[in-house]
Amino acid sequence: MAKKQIIPKKMPMPEQPADERIHNYNEVPYGYTPEQAMAEAQRCLECAKPGCMQGCPVGINIPGFLQLVSLGDFRGAINLIKETNALPAVTGRVCPQEDQCEGKCALCKKYEPVGIGRLERFVADWEAQQGPPTIPELPPPTGKRVAVVGSGPAGVTVAADLIRIGHHVTIFEALHEAGGVLVYGIPEFRLPKAIVKREVEYVCSMGVKLVKDFVVGTAATVDELLEEFDAVFLGTGAGLPWFLGIPGENLNGVYSANEYLTRANLMKAYKFPEYDTPIALGQRVLTIGGGNVAMDSARTALRLGAKESIIVYRRSRDEMPARKEEVHHAEQEGVVFNLLTTPVAIHGDKNGWAKELECTRNELGEPDASGRRRPVPIPNSNFRIACDVVVLSIGQSPNPLIPKTTPDLAVGKYGVVKVDDKTMKTSKRGVFAGGDVATGGATVILAMGQGKIAAAAIHQYLTTGVW
Ligand code: SF4
Repeated sequence: MAKKQIIPKKMPMPEQPADERIHNYNEVPYGYTPEQAMAEAQRCLECAKPGCMQGCPVGINIPGFLQLVSLGDFRGAINLIKETNALPAVTGRVCPQEDQCEGKCALCKKYEPVGIGRLERFVADWEAQQGPPTIPELPPPTGKRVAVVGSGPAGVTVAADLIRIGHHVTIFEALHEAGGVLVYGIPEFRLPKAIVKREVEYVCSMGVKLVKDFVVGTAATVDELLEEFDAVFLGTGAGLPWFLGIPGENLNGVYSANEYLTRANLMKAYKFPEYDTPIALGQRVLTIGGGNVAMDSARTALRLGAKESIIVYRRSRDEMPARKEEVHHAEQEGVVFNLLTTPVAIHGDKNGWAKELECTRNELGEPDASGRRRPVPIPNSNFRIACDVVVLSIGQSPNPLIPKTTPDLAVGKYGVVKVDDKTMKTSKRGVFAGGDVATGGATVILAMGQGKIAAAAIHQYLTTGVW
C-alpha cells in the first residue's frame, strides 16, 4: 500500500475578524465547509493503537468517525459520536482538545494533530442543518426512576446514558434555562445558547423529562426525591464564587465572574434595557485571574463597550491555566495582560464605586503544590491601576444548599461532595454525584466523563440493588 502523504498543518478555521467581532456577540469561528472537513479528516493516519481515544474522557470512537467524515458520510459520523457523547456540538467547541484527544494524536510528534474537535463540531452542526436529529431506538422501560439534579454537562450525560438503557429520568434544573454552566458561564461568542438548547432538546426527545425553576434543597430535599425515585444524581456544578478577601471587594462595580457572565449572557444584560438585567459598564475593566473564565470575562467586557480590558494575573503566561486558543483570541481582540501582579486592595470614590486597583509586583519562586511556580511579592512594589469595573475570576466551589439540607452527605475541602471516583457514589445510599460539585471546578468534558461513570454505576445499582 502506498505510504500516506502527511499534511503537516491543520486546515485553518475560518473565523470572524477580531476588529468586527468585538462589536457583536456572534460566534468567533465559522466552522469548516464539508470540503474542508473531509480534507482535514483525511490527515488521520488510522492508527492501529489510536492515542487520541486514550485522551477522550467519554470514549468516542475517534478514528471511526474521522474515517466516515473523510468519506463524506457525515450522518454515519454523527451517529457514531452520539453513541457515547450526547453533546458533540458543545464538546467540539469547548473541550481542551490540545490536552486530551489532540494532545495524544500520533501526528503530534512532528506535526499539528488532526483537528478532532473542529470535526466533531462540524458533523454536529451538519446534522442540525439537515432537520430533526435521528432518535435512537430505545429498549422497553425498566420501571426504575432516576432524578438528576442539574442540567449541566454531567447531568445531561447521565440522563442520556440512562434513558438509552430504559430507565426513566427526570432532570431538575434550578434556573429557567437548561444547560447549567454552558448557558450561564460560557459566553454566546464561544458557545451559542441555541446550540446548548438543541443538544438538551435532543436528550429530551429521547424521553428525558426536564423540570425547570426547581431548586433542590428548597422545593424538595434529596431525601424527598429518594421517596419518589430509585436513585439521585447530583450534578449541581460549582456556582459559589471565591473572593480575594481584600479591602474594597464590596464596592460598586466589583463583580464575581460568575455574576458578571450570568448577567451578560444568560440574562442578556448586553441588550439592556430591552432585557431587564443591568450591568455596570466601564471604560476600563480589570479581570483578575488567568483561566478560561477570566478570558471569557475580559472578552465580554470589550463587547459591552469597554475601551480597555486588562487581565491581572499573579504568575507569568506559562502558568496561566486558560487554553492557549482562548488567550490567543483575547489578545487578538485587544485584551491586555498585566502579569506577575497580585491585587491587594480596591479603592473607591466618594460614591462607593471602584476606581483603582492596588497591586504588588511579583517574581516567580519555587513550584507550589499545583506544580506551577509560586508568585513571590517584590517588597515595596505597590502600584495602582485605574478602573471602572473589577471582575474577580479566581475560582469557585459548590453551592452549599444541598449538603446543608442533606445531613448524611459527606463533603470535603471547599464543600466538594465526596465520591468514590470509580463509581461516583456518595456517602449516602442511592445518591451519586459528578462534575464540578465533586471536583470543585474542572472542564466540561471531565464532568461528562464522570457522568458516564455515574450512569454505569447507577445502572448497576438499579439492577442489582447492591450499594
Ligand atoms: S491518533 Fe491521530 S492520527 Fe492516529 S487515529 Fe487518532 S486522530 Fe488519527
